[in-house]
Amino acid sequence: MPDPTDALSAVPVAGSRRAAPVVGHLRFYYGPMDCGKSTLALQVDHNHARQGRRGLLLVHLDRSGLPQITSRIGITRQAIEVHGHVDLRALVRAHWAAGQRVDYLIVDEAQFLTPEQVDQLAVLADDSQVDVYCFGIATDFRSRLFPGAARLFELADELQPVQVDVLCWCGAPARFNARVVDGRITRDGDTVVVADTETTRSMTESNHSSGQLDTSSTTVRYQVLCRRHFRLGDLGADVAVQGQLSFA
Ligand SMILES: [Zn+2]
Repeated sequence: MPDPTDALSAVPVAGSRRAAPVVGHLRFYYGPMDCGKSTLALQVDHNHARQGRRGLLLVHLDRSGLPQITSRIGITRQAIEVHGHVDLRALVRAHWAAGQRVDYLIVDEAQFLTPEQVDQLAVLADDSQVDVYCFGIATDFRSRLFPGAARLFELADELQPVQVDVLCWCGAPARFNARVVDGRITRDGDTVVVADTETTRSMTESNHSSGQLDTSSTTVRYQVLCRRHFRLGDLGADVAVQGQLSFA
């Protein structure tokens, strides 16, 4: 019978641990919409830059629709837009080849990374000592993990819920991002529909399931809710009034 502890590799004795390789860390800060993740991302960047470190800001689908990280308290920084096909190792290597240091990466909207890109971030941390700070939402409007967030939960060295209180209309902590279409909560549709919790953006969604051509323009927004009101689809009284107004 094999000794089960054989699966554990030997750790160097205390005196020789200095010889252990230095590795970067992969961290994931997660929370619902509106919890201040982008603000925290820019603060982390600022703190590192002050120490003379050089980093890259990466984003996918910022709420502004531009390659930048936008925080709701009015700070904006230019960022590199990374689509799903971008190899993040190659992106960092290209900066090194151009003579630029990359000590750390800040990734906003990290839930939109592909699982492969999260693996690439882990390689950069392990093999190239790059510190990686990911900021994003854990679950989508159906309360299911985004694939990128799921991979971060699997691989990250540190998982940190962002501790800015976001409240449901009832006052309970809000952890769920409800998608509201024409004033009603919906649990169907594409995983990624970029909209805001504050401004109501008009967009046309084609109705794939019924095969009908959707010629009407619908309004889509997000609202953060507690689990109970997410389950019940209860958006609260104020929103109902707003919804009625929008039909007038
Ligand atoms: Zn609630």
